[in-house]
Amino acid sequence: MKIDAINFTNIIINIAGTIEDNLDYLTELDTEIGDGDHGINMAKGFKRIKEKLSEADILDIGETLILSGKVLLNEIGGAMGPLYGGGLIKAGVALKGKNTIYKNDIYTLFSSLLESVKSLGGARVGDKTMVDTLEPFVVEYRRQSEGNETVDSFREALAKAKEGMESTRDMISKVGRSSRLLERSKGHIDVGAASSYLILESFYNSLKSIMDQQDN
Ligand code: ADP
Ligand code: MG
Repeated sequence: MKIDAINFTNIIINIAGTIEDNLDYLTELDTEIGDGDHGINMAKGFKRIKEKLSEADILDIGETLILSGKVLLNEIGGAMGPLYGGGLIKAGVALKGKNTIYKNDIYTLFSSLLESVKSLGGARVGDKTMVDTLEPFVVEYRRQSEGNETVDSFREALAKAKEGMESTRDMISKVGRSSRLLERSKGHIDVGAASSYLILESFYNSLKSIMDQQDN
């Protein structure tokens, strides 16, 4: 399957909608073991991204990612600004100039995001962060995409991302604000792991509808 620049902008706009719909859920998670700002920051950031994308001239897919990353990096507070922002910029640089992307480019996108988050934040799987969602996703997507179609690969990888997100419930936080709580950080899903999962799930739903359009 192929994703053109208009499809890709719609994927980002759908993610913005998903984040908006889940603002209360993310706020609740970040209130349990954080400072409660993650949902608000994410919703604000993606709303700005939507505005900027609608003002911009036609962008290629790399440029769309770079614009989105810059909004998060420059305009949004909390750990997520630099982590998601830097990650989207890195993914955008990797996909610069592309007006159409395919199965392997989706791997490039999410592996670049993951590598950027890991190198900036220093977190590893098991530290109770967004890495616990993103890394199992990237590993499984790579494995699946060797023999399967894009949407099928994504669906299987999304299942691993969900397991990863849920595994953060029993972890003790090792990095970021919630690490100050030590043992008390146990018993709650990490909010960054949750927002990463929501982003992936929304991406998947968009891929399914793009594929349905291409089939008809
Ligand atoms: P803050 O903790 O500054 O309020 P947010 O609430 O926006 O930031 O985001 C918190 C989330 O950011 C955490 O749940 C975690 O998933 C992620 N996070 C924080 N620090 C790191 C890090 N060093 N590496 C990876 N992810 C991190
Ligand atoms: Mg917070």
